[in-house]
Amino acid sequence: MYEQINPQEFMIRNDLKRFSEKWQADPDFREQVFTDSVQAASRHNLKVNLEEIRQLWDTEYASQQGDQAPISPTLEIYQKYLQQSCKEDFLANVSTNPQFQAWRARQIARNESLYKKAYHDRIVHASAAFELSKGCSVGCWFCGVSAPRLEDLFVYTSENAKLWRQVLELLKEFLGPAVGQGFCYWATDPLDNPDYEKFCSDFHEISGSFPQTTTALALKNPERTRSLLKLSREKGRYFDRFSVFSLKILNQIHEEFSAEELAFVTLVLQNFESDLVKANVGRVWEQNKKKAELSELSQEDDFSDQGTIASVTGFLFNMVDRTVKLISPCRASNRWPNGYIIFDEGSFSNIDDLRAILQRMIDEHMSPTVRANDLICFRGDLKYEKLPDGFQVSTKIMTRKFRHQNYLRELGETIRKGDKTAAEIVGVFNLLGVPSDKTFQALNLLLASGCLNEELKIKTLAYAH
Ligand code: SF4
Repeated sequence: MYEQINPQEFMIRNDLKRFSEKWQADPDFREQVFTDSVQAASRHNLKVNLEEIRQLWDTEYASQQGDQAPISPTLEIYQKYLQQSCKEDFLANVSTNPQFQAWRARQIARNESLYKKAYHDRIVHASAAFELSKGCSVGCWFCGVSAPRLEDLFVYTSENAKLWRQVLELLKEFLGPAVGQGFCYWATDPLDNPDYEKFCSDFHEISGSFPQTTTALALKNPERTRSLLKLSREKGRYFDRFSVFSLKILNQIHEEFSAEELAFVTLVLQNFESDLVKANVGRVWEQNKKKAELSELSQEDDFSDQGTIASVTGFLFNMVDRTVKLISPCRASNRWPNGYIIFDEGSFSNIDDLRAILQRMIDEHMSPTVRANDLICFRGDLKYEKLPDGFQVSTKIMTRKFRHQNYLRELGETIRKGDKTAAEIVGVFNLLGVPSDKTFQALNLLLASGCLNEELKIKTLAYAH
């Protein structure tokens, strides 16, 4: 995609990218730009004329110019880059498994009711993630998935390589091309694993996609990082990410890697001075909870924009432990402090075990329609209200109304009590003259729109997580 950009445009775009990283991360730099943009650019080795992009950084100037003001060619290049980077982030392969597809669609519908649209649009709902280590060596205080300390690695022995390839083949068989959306980290840092690149190459060979990398360890071995970026690009992956935890690290990254080398690397600016809001999840949520307990504030009151960093609606593997979980994002809560629901989990010792576990998870959790013996009730976080001709359920973000049919009001009341299976509900409404298929249709609509409580199917988990 970018090979077609002319070199001059490419250089400007990379320079602007670097400018924007400094701008977001460093308040001193912002001040320098306001004081003397030419000097600020030259001090930081930026070749771009910052006056040509004044609309980007000077809000007062931008508002004086108005929305319709023409933008400079330089700013146009930058806007084009932003649009392209968003598109790449959201290339989503569709699963060929109709059960998985229906389940994923309703988890997405549930998530849409939890976050503001702009935030939810950033959640990719990838089909799978693979941890190639147990724990993470970085130990961030704000870790959104509460990664434990690094304990063990899944190294590329012939036995492990065989299992890895079998797992990928199996997942491809179950999900089709959606497996290519997967990535090889979670509560881990990819570069903790010395064989990460080998696993990624297998992933590419089997799924057709090279997995996206997000690492906080880009500086650990810069030559390795360079080779990985090169490999990633050669195999068709355009954007990878570095997590940046301090201004010092940002400056070191800028010193170590040229703007061109980072052309296809998004820097996730987590440093203290950055205006990036930390997701209220994992360790941050635990800390906020303690503060809330002290000040007697309610956790439930928190409706900050960010409530999860979990971006998988599908299978989460730990290849060291040989475990798999069926997960989907949610707001952090006492039950799910890491911002994702664990619908099911199992451990496997070989590929036949795994096949049986995945099939069971699909059969038990992913029926596209309600089943006769499913207990039917609304999600616990929904506020239920009667309407004259139906009912509505809502969160602070979204309201879904079910109305214009007389029986819907009664149906809402029945589901609210939550003490009947689908078959029992259908029986009750049959007596009231509502045909079975009509009641089932209504229940299926509620299921598909993510309003029914699917956590009821969660069994007591076999082991702690
Ligand atoms: S945020 Fe990432 S790098 Fe930091 S501890 Fe968690 S998993 Fe490791």
